[in-house]
Amino acid sequence: MNMKIISNYKIYKILTVIILLFTTLGFRVIDNEMRWKINEEDPYLWIRLCDRNVTIEENTIDDPSDSMFEKKNVSIVDVMQSIIDDANGIFGSYLRLEMYPADVNNLETGSLFDATKAEKRIIEICEDSLFLASGVASSEIDGENVVKCKINFTQNNKQNVRTFISVLTHEIGHCLGLHHPQELVDSVMSYFKKPTFYRYQVDDKMGIRYLYPATIKDLDQKEHNTSGLSCKFRGHQTITLN
Ligand SMILES: [Zn+2]
Repeated sequence: MNMKIISNYKIYKILTVIILLFTTLGFRVIDNEMRWKINEEDPYLWIRLCDRNVTIEENTIDDPSDSMFEKKNVSIVDVMQSIIDDANGIFGSYLRLEMYPADVNNLETGSLFDATKAEKRIIEICEDSLFLASGVASSEIDGENVVKCKINFTQNNKQNVRTFISVLTHEIGHCLGLHHPQELVDSVMSYFKKPTFYRYQVDDKMGIRYLYPATIKDLDQKEHNTSGLSCKFRGHQTITLN
């Protein structure tokens, strides 16, 4: 009897180790081979709205530090720009999202838009009726690269600024290569996220930084995915993060 208990204990121990080895605790990426053809020197993707003439009336954002705090009746373009600013502000990532111009034949001064490059670097966002989903993202692949990502969101998601940001931030995360880290609540990419989250959280930011790692002079800031089994941080100088 005792022998049986010991052997069962050993089996559970071995199974626990195996499960730990194969469990990724943290962000998840869709597929390492599925990448946009961008790099640190040329890091732009363009976000195109099917309908720019939408006003989002309600707003339940209660965080005074958020740029969209208490703003009501705002243009969908301005709300989308706040999502773009959030993604572009991720420290250690070279990725840069840009709004697709309202008129490609009449660009604003200082516009970074490049029509040829943009042909294969568009994230298109359109309203649609969806079954059992608030948003859907689907990527178009050409060879080894993503060349387009189409996001659909349902009509009721454009009623409230906070809801729109939450759904679009999640779906853009998929377009960028993030998957659902279902064992987490501290991630806007998780189905089980805390209800208070509507913008990228630390875990999501680590994922984007892993996929699009910026080189920072004299400091190895790249995020190394070690599945939690080791630590590879190497710093060569003292920096202050704000
Ligand atoms: Zn999702």
